[in-house]
Amino acid sequence: MRGGHAPGHNFSAMNRNSVPGWAGCFRRWLAVVAVSVVIACSHQSVDFPLHPNLPENLRSFLLRHANTWEMAGDGSLIAAGEGPDATINTLEEARLVLSFYREWFPEAPPSITLFILHASEPEWRQLVAKEGLRPDGIAFHAPGLLVIKEDVDQNLRPDRLPHELIHAILSEQFPESIPLWLDEGWAGFYGWELVRAASDGSANWTRRRPAIEEILPYGLDELSAITTYPEHPEAARMFYRESEEVIRALEEELGRTAMGRFLDMAVRQPMPLSRLLIERWGWHEQKVRALEWRVQQRCRMPRILR
Ligand SMILES: [Zn+2]
Repeated sequence: MRGGHAPGHNFSAMNRNSVPGWAGCFRRWLAVVAVSVVIACSHQSVDFPLHPNLPENLRSFLLRHANTWEMAGDGSLIAAGEGPDATINTLEEARLVLSFYREWFPEAPPSITLFILHASEPEWRQLVAKEGLRPDGIAFHAPGLLVIKEDVDQNLRPDRLPHELIHAILSEQFPESIPLWLDEGWAGFYGWELVRAASDGSANWTRRRPAIEEILPYGLDELSAITTYPEHPEAARMFYRESEEVIRALEEELGRTAMGRFLDMAVRQPMPLSRLLIERWGWHEQKVRALEWRVQQRCRMPRILR
């Protein structure tokens, strides 16, 4: 099981439901693809697929609570929780972003069985107590399960679901493990790319990222050696920000079609990032240092990303 990371991102406060781009986009998409959606109400019995590797305690948690949730979904993707945001909107958003993601990265698992639960405060507390998660966490995932804590502030993040879906896809693609910086950097960068792609240019997303001044950026090799989330809030902010900036800078250098290959190489041949770029990707030392410098500058400066 992975996840359980704490809030620490800086996002412009925009509610996706207040922006017509999402809804319009979903409607257009729904018109094209025949979708069979089943809403199972609390009085009906529910039948849903669960991943064979889902730990037993989580499986019994889901089965115990299933009749209290509304659900929307089909054979492989189920969204559960209270109200349309947690169910039908989540399901549609998940389908849409997954279709973009698979187009960009055909190496990604062709299908994913996923139960997406928007957990209420009491449900989240139960899971935290049983699973030993960080109490200030905002989401976690296990094989075939993504739990998103209902949280007013976090729900305003347009990239919330795409970000967590990417973590779920990565853990299915690389069940053994994935370097932490790569996991967060990939979800951070492509989560927003998915938001942009899904909104079809009709929403003018802006992210304001203040400068991080209290601590220095990590070196590339230092960043790629981190195995646990930094405790200090500023260090954690730097970790998330810099991981994402590395992925952004690598995509600028390599192009998106090569990034899937880079991901695979970086996971299967774990080594310090600069060594990977030099030995496996044929970069000169100078080019690595230039990338490092660019990334570090971007973490030190306030940025507005559009
Ligand atoms: Zn994350």
